[in-house]
Amino acid sequence: MKTLPRAVRAAALATAAALALTACQGGGSSDTQSSGPAPAGSSSAGASAAPSASGPDATASAGPSGDAAADSTALKPGTNRSAAADGYAYPAKDVHDWLWGRKAKSPTYPKKKLAFLTFDDGPTNSTPRTLKELKKAGVPASFFIIGGDKGLGRPKSAGYLKDEIAQGNSVCIHSYTHSFPLLYPGRTASPKAIVKDYTKTVSAVRDVLGEDYRVGCQRYPGGHGWNGMKPADRAMQKKGAWWIDWNSENGDGTDTASSTGAGRAKQALSTLGSNPRVAVILMHDYKDNDATIESIAPLVKALKKKGYDFGVMS
Ligand SMILES: [Zn+2]
Repeated sequence: MKTLPRAVRAAALATAAALALTACQGGGSSDTQSSGPAPAGSSSAGASAAPSASGPDATASAGPSGDAAADSTALKPGTNRSAAADGYAYPAKDVHDWLWGRKAKSPTYPKKKLAFLTFDDGPTNSTPRTLKELKKAGVPASFFIIGGDKGLGRPKSAGYLKDEIAQGNSVCIHSYTHSFPLLYPGRTASPKAIVKDYTKTVSAVRDVLGEDYRVGCQRYPGGHGWNGMKPADRAMQKKGAWWIDWNSENGDGTDTASSTGAGRAKQALSTLGSNPRVAVILMHDYKDNDATIESIAPLVKALKKKGYDFGVMS
């Protein structure tokens, strides 16, 4: 990535944003994008093992306190996950730094291969089956949720959100409205609209998970490829939020998505390319997303074979 001219990266991101604009508004609740920025590191580590003590979320080291923390399936106060995730939760600021910041020079850069499965645009009727597949595969994921009618506003979604936490996953912020014209009028980021939308989403999550919910991971609808993102990034960082794109995707946000689970797993692996040290894989749990649900088992199996451990973002 370092050798790629800025213009090339900018062009790729612009293309991603253009695609996103087309399909996301026209067709449904999904993001539509081509691959995000290329991975930071391509060297592969060896053995698969639990994250090192220095790796996971710093908030985890404080240890349980109070009654809520005693329940490993409840939200751990001050985080976006349960205490069960202490050993594999990583601050979004670090993940951001690994892929879009200092990259391999980051002091927290993982020593072993680490994959983050990410699901956008839920919770919906796809969420319970997504959770079931993750449980069967024995891995956690990070859910970037929609706070409004397409996600948390759905009748059963509050329960699904709690299930995400109870099963050891993390809950990150995607959007309340998922409206491109609102967030990026004239295709240029509006810091004011973005912060307002973000704050509303956090508030909707707190209504379900409690006021102790704190979060650092955030994904812009359509990704980070819009014009004039820097002021929005700064405003979001003041809120403690770090944007997370991806370096692999299973294609379920595009018009050319495979209709089978095997096809989507294959696409995620092929866009992952050279098996980077850190993999952030974009998928969706938008409504009726059966093929992605079916892709989880083969994808996780292949990633494990490649030596990846699995983390969540906090
Ligand atoms: Zn989305």
